[in-house]
Amino acid sequence: MENKSLKQIFYRGLIKSCNYSCAYCPFSKHVSKRELEADAVELVRFVHFVEQRTDVGAVQIVPYGEALIHEYYWEAMAVLSKLPQLELVGCQTNLSFPVEHMLKVFQQAGGCREKLRLWCTFHPTMVSGECFLNQCKLLEKEQVGFCVGSVGVPEQRERLTQLREKLSKAVYMWVNPMDGLGRPYTEAEIADFVKIDAFFPYLLKHTKAQAAQCKGCQGKALFVHSNGDVTPCNISRKRLGNIYQSYDLEPPLEIKGCGQRECSCYLAYSNRMDMPEMVCYGKYPAFRVATVPQAMFLDVDGTLIKEGCESIDEQVVKQLAHWSQYAGIYLATSLPLVHALKKCHAIKPFLSGGVFANGGMVCLFQEKKTWITSIEQEVVQTVLQLLRAHSVKVRIYEQDGKVYKITGTGRKLSQTYDVLREKLAVNADNAKLTLVLEGKYLEITGREANKLTGVQRICEYYGYEKDKVLAAGDSENDKDMLDFFPMSVLRRNIEAI
Ligand code: SF4
Ligand code: SF4
Repeated sequence: MENKSLKQIFYRGLIKSCNYSCAYCPFSKHVSKRELEADAVELVRFVHFVEQRTDVGAVQIVPYGEALIHEYYWEAMAVLSKLPQLELVGCQTNLSFPVEHMLKVFQQAGGCREKLRLWCTFHPTMVSGECFLNQCKLLEKEQVGFCVGSVGVPEQRERLTQLREKLSKAVYMWVNPMDGLGRPYTEAEIADFVKIDAFFPYLLKHTKAQAAQCKGCQGKALFVHSNGDVTPCNISRKRLGNIYQSYDLEPPLEIKGCGQRECSCYLAYSNRMDMPEMVCYGKYPAFRVATVPQAMFLDVDGTLIKEGCESIDEQVVKQLAHWSQYAGIYLATSLPLVHALKKCHAIKPFLSGGVFANGGMVCLFQEKKTWITSIEQEVVQTVLQLLRAHSVKVRIYEQDGKVYKITGTGRKLSQTYDVLREKLAVNADNAKLTLVLEGKYLEITGREANKLTGVQRICEYYGYEKDKVLAAGDSENDKDMLDFFPMSVLRRNIEAI
């Protein structure tokens, strides 16, 4: 079973040098032998520390400059990757190292290649697109997990677009907003970068720093500097302790504030626990290997529509308009079709269909296709008699004479619910109904109808892959669906997706 308490460590060594000479970069200088020796010693000390911990799940190396041109980094990553508790180890790089040779070094040191993740940055002023692409192809051939990206320099749009087009579709390419652009991006520039990176708009918004929602402030992630000092993230200067002295890694680590106003870059932002889209980056978003969803299945009441509200928040509408360019957007709701569409009219143009009435009805709008999972006629009559005997107001939903959902409202609904459960043996293996008591509604559907089977039916029809489907919901009847899909968001009152 997955250990949810494993920590993410970011490590920044002593190195401050690079084989490239990007004009804006303070680390574009060549390395001295003494610097390398000191860096190697610190790295070995750090690896020993991780070896002694059983609660570290991932290590991401984030150097100032380029580390992977030095073999000792590959050896260190190999040692880390052999630790049974360590799930992933990675490094940021300009991808200028000799791929085959370095993988040989890694292999010879006993490294586990499946655990390797590389964050590869393309520098268009330093290397040709073709040369960088060839390096990416080698990584793919060698089955190394990696992401690719670049700074969103407006003048480089065409080259970045070409790189995206030539990269394999399975490789995620990111674009970072440019520091020091001195003006906002134009709409055309944003549109071009969004075509490359679906997540680009998330980095344009200003995300207020919030210690309560930050893994670094809650002891779930640590930014470790070469001397062992720990800060909550790469931009916060708040010193929390030192891993080589008295610092205890056990959570909870509660600090009131991190001293920063915003989580202003992706590395910091990846620590946020309240950003639903982070689910697309897997268990350790620090490696930035994202999956762009093929389809999204979204619960309505309590998830898309905040409690106490009648309609979907404007921000969520905008986000879904954005995601509809990449993914099929579907509702997965206990509401019947007509009610759901009335509540969600603001996103209707972006909807491809949905699972309604808790799976009693499944629709694909473009295909004009509908599947009904009905309740047996005989059972319908028994249910209606029982509900009426308890003075429950009944509503029947049917299509082509097939009843797929019955709802009841009235007083003492929980008593009625208990009677129905007993008389209709809803818990028995051969039960014919599913009963849900949600707020002031008693909802009755056929036993085979539930959100997960409805969602699976749509996935099968369109060939959506399980690990590329995002599901969001907040209540008991969403549980099966959320447990099934790795990209699932358990969230009340979703702010944005
Ligand atoms: S590749 Fe990165 S570290 Fe090296 S000079 Fe360019 S920006 Fe600096
Ligand atoms: S700035 Fe850093 S420490 Fe502060 S909330 Fe954001 S990620 Fe956490």
